Amino acid sequence: MIAENLADVRARIAAAAARAGRDPTSIQLLAVSKTKPAEAVAEAYAAGQRAFGENYAQELETKHAALAHLKDLDWHFVGRLQTNKAKVVAKIAKMVHAVDGERLARELGKRAEGREAPLDVLVEVNVGGEASKGGVAPGDLAPLLSAIEAIGSLRLRGLMSIPPPTPDAESSRRFHHLLRSIRDAHGGPARLPELSMGMTDDLEVAIEEGATIVRVGTAIFGARTART
Ligand SMILES: *Cc1c(COP(=O)(O)O)cnc(C)c1O
Repeated sequence: MIAENLADVRARIAAAAARAGRDPTSIQLLAVSKTKPAEAVAEAYAAGQRAFGENYAQELETKHAALAHLKDLDWHFVGRLQTNKAKVVAKIAKMVHAVDGERLARELGKRAEGREAPLDVLVEVNVGGEASKGGVAPGDLAPLLSAIEAIGSLRLRGLMSIPPPTPDAESSRRFHHLLRSIRDAHGGPARLPELSMGMTDDLEVAIEEGATIVRVGTAIFGARTART
């Protein structure tokens, strides 16, 4: 079931890449396993998936411990992160997707000292201008990017967004397009190679607009019943 779902998602990515004239290997599939058991992650791993995304620090820690024997499995933290949870995330994650303030960046930097490799970070941009959502306003992005680049234990890799819900995938296009334009206004792919955008419902549109990482949960693991 999970293996078939993964094959379907990979086919969707390949088709969207072909339509956009992009190399499909330039798009990384991140399997978002939040609320799903470690067994589901192991099943996806057996089907060849290596990168997994979690939203809650406690859950990340539990699943990381349960699956520590899978050495080439990479964990990404995609949720809103409180500074008091930075320690556990900086220890386990390869990449943190939703850094949205200097205080959090500095805390992650402090906790990432002593790691073998720097901690990869993306800055979340609030593309919908929603007060209730995380992410920096586009106008506040420049100083945050510079601050992150000054922290030796972090490696700035790009931008991430969670656009507002839209009635259909096509309506999300302007938000994906906006993130890409913001990236291009702040140094382009040379400085910010990764664009983490697109989920189960809109991954094709996100790929057409330049996504390099799509974060997919439901299409791989099925609907979530608990907190989303
Ligand atoms: C849950 C989640 C996803 C996956 O969403 P689906 O619609 O289930 O694919 C992607 N990104 C973030 C930040 C999430 O919290």
